[in-house]
Amino acid sequence: MNKHDSERMAGLLVERGYSQSDSSDDAEIIVFNTCTVRKHAEERFFGNLNNLRSAKKANPNLIIAVGGCVAQAERDRIFKKAPHVDIVFGTHNMPNLGHMVESIESGRKAICDIVEEIEIMPTAVPSIREKAYHAWVPIIIGCNNFCSYCIVPHTRGRETSRYIEDVVGEVERLVSGGVIEITLLGQNVNSYGRDIYGRSWFAKLLIILNEIPGLRRIRFTTSHPKDLADDTIAAIASGEKICEHIHLPVQAGSNSILKAMNRKYTKEGYLETVEKIYKAMPGVSLTTDIMVGFPGETEEDFLHTLDIVEKARYDSAFTFIFSPREGTPAARMENQVPAPIKSDRFDRLIKLQNRTSLEKNQELTGKDVEVFIEGASRKNENVLTGRSRTNKVINFVGSKDLIHSEALVHVKEAHTWYLSGEIKEVLVR
Ligand code: SAH
Ligand code: SF4
Repeated sequence: MNKHDSERMAGLLVERGYSQSDSSDDAEIIVFNTCTVRKHAEERFFGNLNNLRSAKKANPNLIIAVGGCVAQAERDRIFKKAPHVDIVFGTHNMPNLGHMVESIESGRKAICDIVEEIEIMPTAVPSIREKAYHAWVPIIIGCNNFCSYCIVPHTRGRETSRYIEDVVGEVERLVSGGVIEITLLGQNVNSYGRDIYGRSWFAKLLIILNEIPGLRRIRFTTSHPKDLADDTIAAIASGEKICEHIHLPVQAGSNSILKAMNRKYTKEGYLETVEKIYKAMPGVSLTTDIMVGFPGETEEDFLHTLDIVEKARYDSAFTFIFSPREGTPAARMENQVPAPIKSDRFDRLIKLQNRTSLEKNQELTGKDVEVFIEGASRKNENVLTGRSRTNKVINFVGSKDLIHSEALVHVKEAHTWYLSGEIKEVLVR
C-alpha cells in the first residue's frame, strides 16, 4: 500500500513539473512516505529526517515533506523533533500534496494537513509507476478489524471500498496503457464491497476482472483468514488470469494468543481454510505474516505457532517480532515477553520457515513453470529474471530481447528464495 501511495505522490509532483531525482543530494523536494507498523521503521525515519538538518541549512529552499502513517499519528512530534520540516500530511491528505508544495514555494510557513476520514480516493490522482507492466490497484482502503497489536486502523481509518465500476474502469485504462499485471490492494481484500454493497463482492470483482482482454495476471493482497470465502477460493481456482498465490497472514498458532490478538479465527479453523485452498489448487503458493512475542506468549503458545507453520507449509513468510505501538491495546498489556525470549523464538521460527521454503521450492524442480520475464539480473547481464504465477522468482540464461515476454521455464535447481532454470519455450512475446 505504501509503495502504491509513493507512486501517487510522485505522480502528483511530476504533474506539477517536477522530475524524479536519483539522489536526495540534488533534490529540491524530499518526501518521506512513512510506516509506523513497527517501532524500528519509525525510529529509522526520525534518524533519516535528522540527517537532513545540514542539507536544509545549506539550502533553505529545500522542501521537506512527511506523509504516511507516522505523519498521521505523530504530527506534533515531527515538528518538535524536526523544525526543518515544511509539510506534514496525513494518510488521507496525500491528494493535496501538490497544493501544499505550491503554498510552500510561494512563501507560506510550515503546513500540517491531517484529517481523520477519507475525502478523496488516492486513486483519483495520477501515478508514476515503478514498472510499466505492473500496477497496484487499491480496491478497499482502511481497516475495521482492530487486531489488538495493530496501528493500521488508527492511521488509515475505516474500510472504504471503491465502486466496482471505478475499479474495472481503472484496470481497463491501465491495460490499454500497457499494463499486463495488477495487484489488488486492501488490508483485507475479502471485505471488499461490504461498506457499499452490504456484503463482500471480492469474488465477483475477480470474476469480472478475469474477463478484461489484454490483462494477463491478477494478484491481490491481503486476505484475512476469517473472511476468505469459498466463492473466492473457487474464483481463484477457476479464473485463468487469477494467480494461484494467496497471502494469508496467520500471526500465531495458539488459540489463546489468537483470541488476545482479536484475530477472530482459531488454529483449527485456519488449517481448515488452508486445506480447502490446497484441495482447490494443488500447485498454489501460500504465504503468510507471523509474529512472535505477543504479550503473554508462553513457550507452549509458541510451539503452536511452529506447529501451524509446519502444517500449513508456507512457501514464504514475513516474520515479525511484536513491537508495542502506542494507542493499541496490546501495548498496554502487562505480560510483555522479554527481548531475549522474543529473539530466540524469532530465530527458531525463521529456521523452520527457511527449511520449508526450500522444501516447497524443491517440489518444483524438474517441472515447467509459466514465467513473466521482468528484467535482467543486476549481477549478470546474461541472466534473466522473472516471476511464476505463484510469485516465485526464477532466474535463467536468456537474451535481453525476451524481457517482458512470457516463457515456459524448466526448473533445474531450488534455493530458499528463488529458483534457477532453463528456458524451454517462449509463450507470449
Ligand atoms: N492487513 C494485513 C496486515 C497489515 S500489517 C493483515 O491483516 O494481515 C503487516 C504485518 O505487520 C501484520 O500482518 C503483522 O504480522 C505485522 N505487524 C502489525 N503490527 C505489528 C506490531 N505491533 N508488531 C509487530 N508486527 C506487527
Ligand atoms: Fe492490522 Fe488486523 Fe487490520 Fe491487518 S486486519 S491491518 S493486522 S488491524
